[in-house]
Amino acid sequence: MSVPAACRAADAVFARATFGRYAAMGRAVAIGVLDLLFPHRCPACDALSAGGPGFCPRCAAALVPVPATACPICGAPQGGDGPAFPCPECRSEPPPFAAAASAWLFGGPLAEALGRFKAGRVPEFPTIAAPSLAAVARGVLATGDPAARRGVLAVAVPPDPGRLARRGFDPGTLVAAATARRLDLPFRAGLLVSAPRPRPQRTLSRAERRRALAGVFSAAPWAPRVLAGRTVLLLDDVRTTGSTTAACAALLRRTGAAVVRVATLALVE
Ligand SMILES: [Zn+2]
Ligand SMILES: [Zn+2]
Repeated sequence: MSVPAACRAADAVFARATFGRYAAMGRAVAIGVLDLLFPHRCPACDALSAGGPGFCPRCAAALVPVPATACPICGAPQGGDGPAFPCPECRSEPPPFAAAASAWLFGGPLAEALGRFKAGRVPEFPTIAAPSLAAVARGVLATGDPAARRGVLAVAVPPDPGRLARRGFDPGTLVAAATARRLDLPFRAGLLVSAPRPRPQRTLSRAERRRALAGVFSAAPWAPRVLAGRTVLLLDDVRTTGSTTAACAALLRRTGAAVVRVATLALVE
């Protein structure tokens, strides 16, 4: 390279670096101004938040993590305080996913924030929920074969069509998409489709709940091509009986996924 050409290249690098610095400063100033004009509020109680989007300190302190004694396969709380071991249901009939876990127990400020989000308020809730759900997802993905962790595809439990029509948006998909972005994983919406589905019934056995959901979920015609041989991270906002995620995991496996791992934000005890 001639000297003038080298100088021009160096100038261009310097100009880009300088522009990058000013652009970053500009972004920081813009975000600061936006924070002043539109301060963040706690998604549960509306308290003004001094930092970025998130729960206020009081609500954050009231969030209850899932106990460490939860079943390491299906993530169901065991109620005991001994070391984690598979629950009786997982021992008698292994679920169609390799591992499932949830971040928080459903209730308190989390239930309040989720309810408000589903009612169309606190649109920033996916940004607030993504770090917790991403941390749980990293945990369920870390237990597998390291080679299988490459090319992980994130998928959301599809919305019930009636609720989607009423709300005009799907809270679960928005939370899952924000989490996939945080994990830097590809996210495919529309891969699974749901017909109207029955409300989860806790009094039924796992086999009865599976029969109640038979035929409710289907895969898009292009799903086998996308899923072939892949590890799928199935994301959902609330887990009640676990039968919905189990039905979706079974369908993903039948459609070609090699392994399914499940992460949910809140677990209903
Ligand atoms: Zn609060
Ligand atoms: Zn279990």
